Amino acid sequence: MNKELYSPLIFELSREGRKGYSLPDYKYDDGDIVIPDILKRAEAPELPQVDELTVVRHYTNSSNNNFGVDTGFYPLGSCTMKYNPKVNESMVALSGIASLHPMQPVSTVQGALRVYRNLEKALCEIGGMAEFTLNPFAGAHGEYTGLMIIRQYHLSRADEARRRVIVPDSAHGTNPASAAMAGFDVVEVKSMPDGTVDVEDLCSKLDDTIAAVMMTNPNTVGMFEKNIPQIAEAVHSAGALMYYDGANLNPMLGIARPGDMGFDVMHINLHKTFSTPHGGGGPGAGPVGVRPGLEKFLPNPRVVEREDGSLDIDFGTDAFGRVSGWLGNFSVLVKSLAYIMTLGAEGLAKVGPLATLNANYIMHSLSDLYMQPISGPCKHEFVFDGLRNKSTGVTTLNIAKALLDHGFHAPTIYFPLLFHESLMIEPTETESPETLDAFIKVMREIAEDAISNPDKIKNAPYTTPISHPDEDEAALTPVLTYAELCKKQI
Ligand SMILES: *Cc1c(COP(=O)(O)O)cnc(C)c1O
Repeated sequence: MNKELYSPLIFELSREGRKGYSLPDYKYDDGDIVIPDILKRAEAPELPQVDELTVVRHYTNSSNNNFGVDTGFYPLGSCTMKYNPKVNESMVALSGIASLHPMQPVSTVQGALRVYRNLEKALCEIGGMAEFTLNPFAGAHGEYTGLMIIRQYHLSRADEARRRVIVPDSAHGTNPASAAMAGFDVVEVKSMPDGTVDVEDLCSKLDDTIAAVMMTNPNTVGMFEKNIPQIAEAVHSAGALMYYDGANLNPMLGIARPGDMGFDVMHINLHKTFSTPHGGGGPGAGPVGVRPGLEKFLPNPRVVEREDGSLDIDFGTDAFGRVSGWLGNFSVLVKSLAYIMTLGAEGLAKVGPLATLNANYIMHSLSDLYMQPISGPCKHEFVFDGLRNKSTGVTTLNIAKALLDHGFHAPTIYFPLLFHESLMIEPTETESPETLDAFIKVMREIAEDAISNPDKIKNAPYTTPISHPDEDEAALTPVLTYAELCKKQI
């Protein structure tokens, strides 16, 4: 640990008697309101005692140690770390939205329900689906919900033998995990040398025990799966359904629709494609859409339109129940609708081509130094298999760390698992040519240093508070509390 860059915890800054507030000495018990003893804590909470300036400096300095889309380029493949327009934040901060309570009578939340319904309709239009639920909290949660919908569909037809789901080997790890969570066994399908799914291998695995095929398009190596209509036909005639992992919808936005390609159920990562801040575990939203005929399998509760034009919340009986406490991560939904409405249909259709252009620009500018395992143009993201020069001993991990010294977030590394030294880059559409050029320049310098002075790259980063944590030790004996940290005396 670089001690100079270590910022102390606010508890370490605490000094007896210091305070940063000034409140009237008011006791509820003195007035009309009496708080029952059972609701009072026996002892005062242990809070840090700090003056206002210390608090301000502490949090400002802590936030400066954080890296985000607002501080620098963030080419984290598969995560679509695009800029989050600030107008979205203004919309969600409107008091009529920020102070809502889920238990309010429906007559008082008609506007909020309209937001929900309008977003649902926009997503139906974008995905080519009949209906959406906005309730799931994340992409993985959407996958689970979608697979439960597929399970209900098969059970409703007394087709109980369908207990297996086909997943390509290039899929995001959440795909097999969600299938397992939903009670299915996973059948893996291989990829071809061009990165797309092996259709022959897939078709050979179709039988009456297969419930669904999960596909991502463009897939996680950034290749467009051209054979979807052919695959969909084979899957449907085998009695199974097509599931679309919509985490990579960004390059297709307003241009191609999963529903038109033959997908039956899909999820969308609002926090990726529809530009709401994410990372570090949340917040997210993974709405799930279904094609006509599957609406009744969507989870409860649902927002429904009554005959008089008003909106209501329906708790239904057909579906398998709830997947979230209420109607989803409402703040994320509001931000996504704001994003869709500010771009409009025309703006949305520009997202994909720009994201694709940016990705190809970087790929093309670096492929003489970095190993490009799949040839041809990519969509919104691409994968390098480490450096072209394999004799340097410099790994993808070293390259990712060296980037940190230059103010760039690292790309996704060691995913997808198809290659040993995967380095997965997704610039997104919101980056300027200057930023892309600056990134390319640094990536080229790293590749050149890897040959002339490999130790320089292997020992990077030099400017971050933590440079080379012992990852095995961190995984085996994680330090999760302050008390543990003190014991370790690092
Ligand atoms: C991000 C991602 C997911 C999972 O989404 P979360 O919101 O992180 O749960 C699934 N599939 C792909 C291809 C992804 O990129």
